[in-house]
Amino acid sequence: MSADLRRATAAQLRAGYCSGEFTPVEAVDALLVAIQREDTALGAWLHLRGDEVRREAAAAEVTYAAARASGAAALDALPPLLGVPVALKDLVNMIGTPTTAGSKILEGYVSPYDATIAAKLKAAGALILGKTNMDEFAMGSSTEFSAYKRTVNPWDRERVPGGSSGGSASAVAALHAPLSIGSDTGGSIRQPASLTGITGMKPTYGRVSRYGIVAFASSLDQIGPFARSAQDVALLLHAIAGSDPRDATSSVTPVDAALLKLPQGDQAASALKGKRFALPKEYFVAGMEPGVEAAVRAAVAALQSAGAVIDEVSLPTTEHALATYYIVAPAEASANLARYDGIRYGASKHGGGDLLDGYLATRGRGFGPEVRRRIMLGTYALSAGFYDAYYLKAQKVRTLIARDFDRIWAAGYDAIVAPASPSVAWKFGAKMSDPVAMYLADACTIPTNMAGLPGLSTPCGLSEGLPVGLQLIGAPWSEAGLLSIAAGYEALSANASWRDQDPTDLAALGGAA
Ligand code: GLN
Repeated sequence: MSADLRRATAAQLRAGYCSGEFTPVEAVDALLVAIQREDTALGAWLHLRGDEVRREAAAAEVTYAAARASGAAALDALPPLLGVPVALKDLVNMIGTPTTAGSKILEGYVSPYDATIAAKLKAAGALILGKTNMDEFAMGSSTEFSAYKRTVNPWDRERVPGGSSGGSASAVAALHAPLSIGSDTGGSIRQPASLTGITGMKPTYGRVSRYGIVAFASSLDQIGPFARSAQDVALLLHAIAGSDPRDATSSVTPVDAALLKLPQGDQAASALKGKRFALPKEYFVAGMEPGVEAAVRAAVAALQSAGAVIDEVSLPTTEHALATYYIVAPAEASANLARYDGIRYGASKHGGGDLLDGYLATRGRGFGPEVRRRIMLGTYALSAGFYDAYYLKAQKVRTLIARDFDRIWAAGYDAIVAPASPSVAWKFGAKMSDPVAMYLADACTIPTNMAGLPGLSTPCGLSEGLPVGLQLIGAPWSEAGLLSIAAGYEALSANASWRDQDPTDLAALGGAA
């Protein structure tokens, strides 16, 4: 029973709670036992809510029991995520819990308020299990830049889970939670989803409120869901999406009710017939691993066999996206991170010297090496003599990138199909001494952020025994359409041997604790 509860999707948990087959307390206990036994080895969690979440699970069970007594209509009226456990990346403020964003500069900071998405999840009845590890301030592609600990990939303990949302991705892949929240500024949801073999979505810019989320690069940051099925991603996205008066960048576009009724199985597979997909040749970048390319091309061939039309297209500005990102993102980060001065939040080294000494000591010791690199890059790009040459130019290139995508939607394509990452998970340390090699890990995901579009990664097989992700990119607000395509691909590949395979090192995690 408890092994099954670890494996259950959010949709299956809800069905079991409604029928009375099992309870939210049993589900939470099964997960907490697994976390306690395995997280010493996995390293996905920075903070756990233990007893509090058990109490909330008991309250959810009382609500289910009352609804069961009243009948089917009462059960249907309960919120879709009632009693379903969720993990939050440690940049989401939740009242009374520590929020570190993976940085020593926020050590000891306890959130005095809820981020809008934390409040929405609570209102939806979700049970927040705790906070997950991440690269410091979401800067990185491997979670190795966390100031706190290493998160391993449950497919191979010697390899990274991707990043920056590596803790949220590993927690879901290792069956520590059915759902988790990540953030994606340049790929930090889709890339770790790809490397850990789960589904993760970056919604359209403005789809999800960022009020109460620690900011990295404000014109790019989006919050989004991780899960082990497209249907679960849709349920979690529905719960967190929507306009928010506290975030002026959140959109008033109505949240798509289709997210709650994603087609499944044969229905989802047959809906692929006649769909038109664009396959951009620039996404098969130099240096892409042949095994990754083969798995992605096989998935595209499967979509074609199911009746979809695939056209090779060109998105010529793709090659400029990475360079443009590394102007825009550090520039915005340098401004956003100015607030960590040792006076308002977390760690402070203000002592006997003057104010400037206090700033220098706090920021010099509180920020790690990658964050300092970004602040220097960003401050340089924004400085008076260089603003036009770098930041302004980057914004112009960004417009060209968006136009490339616009041409695809104007031509009537339903989605772009592409790899999510040029490689499978790599060994710890392999890219730590070469920042540019680390930056290249996001070559396939960054263009989407530059254009504000939705994108997801869904598992499409293994290369050398490690997961590969198929990326789907869509027009603004097409999240439900993209997830329906992912559900169709899940149905097509339901009998593939890799679908049933547990992460290779999952069993070993328990033994190592
Ligand atoms: N890896 C990219 C970076 O380091 C993207 C990170 C993200 O999406 N948060 O900036």
